[in-house]
Amino acid sequence: MERIRDKDAMKTNSFNVNNLIRPNVLAMQAYRSARTEFTGQNTDMIFLDANENPFKTNVNRYPDPRQESLKSLVASQKGISENQILAGNGSDEVLDLLFRAFCRPAKDNVITCPPTYGMYKVLSAINDVTNIEVALLENFQLDIPSILKAIHEHTKLLFICSPNNPTGNSISATAIKILLESFNGLVVIDEAYIDFASATSWVQQIENYPNLVVIQTLSKAYGMAGIRLGFAFAASNIISVLNKIKPPYNVNTLTQQKAYECLKDNRAIQNEIDSIISQRKLLLDAFNEIDSIKEVFPSQANFILCRVDNAGKRYTQLLEQGIVVRNRSKQYLCENTLRFTIGTPTENRQLVTVLKSLT
Ligand SMILES: *Cc1c(COP(=O)(O)O)cnc(C)c1O
Repeated sequence: MERIRDKDAMKTNSFNVNNLIRPNVLAMQAYRSARTEFTGQNTDMIFLDANENPFKTNVNRYPDPRQESLKSLVASQKGISENQILAGNGSDEVLDLLFRAFCRPAKDNVITCPPTYGMYKVLSAINDVTNIEVALLENFQLDIPSILKAIHEHTKLLFICSPNNPTGNSISATAIKILLESFNGLVVIDEAYIDFASATSWVQQIENYPNLVVIQTLSKAYGMAGIRLGFAFAASNIISVLNKIKPPYNVNTLTQQKAYECLKDNRAIQNEIDSIISQRKLLLDAFNEIDSIKEVFPSQANFILCRVDNAGKRYTQLLEQGIVVRNRSKQYLCENTLRFTIGTPTENRQLVTVLKSLT
């Protein structure tokens, strides 16, 4: 692989999504499902086109492959248009579609910045795409010069998780801007925890950056991990490539209905988010008083990373008391760390009581 020497070749003004798409994806015809062929709105029609069972239950028909009601709600809430939205079976499917649309197996590569979300690396391996790791700095911010140096001519995707899992911090907007403006591939910002952060989402920036992809999920703040729904937000020419290769019925009827209901009236969820944010502050303070906790990292997410005296020992002790946390010690820069998800007020009080009692 040859390094890019010509600086101009890295500027987004020469960005062209057609140069990034895998040639086989560019050339192929998308599958046309029965529900894509017939696009009429009239539900009184007699549907004899999809070999479904005609006897009515809520789910005897195939789901809407375009998720039109759901997308129009999300589009109006976010002030973007439907053709800038892709819905997937969890954001894990959305991330996988990015690999399959843009990364040629055994040829292309992506950049990730550990410690970060483990799925980027797993998806690289599944898709036979090299995962170039450029570690975060000690303050868990991006190492911009090293990232710029690591970009090769076959680098297609750059993953930035903000707020970052497992460290909990938001990534500097100035740093992200530099990358958006200097990288000719796609900058993928994973905002799984954005609803807990004081920083604003990058979604409204998709108009300004042709190479920006923002990923969000209903699995964390929105309390719907069980329905599996994630989104990509990007310029319509990026979204249409992902739509072309997605399984036609990737978001099922029950998921579309439930998500629509919850997003339509999200006041209850906003209250839960507020509670989690105020509990985060209480837990941060409480953790600072606990002997076995040596360092508490500030958090913009719904979890707190702590460095403890002996992560393996404390993990087991917590388990014995019926509390399951995540030991992140094997990750880069995370030696002897535990990650605590913020629970209900009662759960958090119990956690603090148990932590105080550990010897
Ligand atoms: C939890 C998490 C997700 C969620 O994935 P889903 O498949 O939507 O449940 C995505 N990205 C990050 C960084 C996460 O921590």
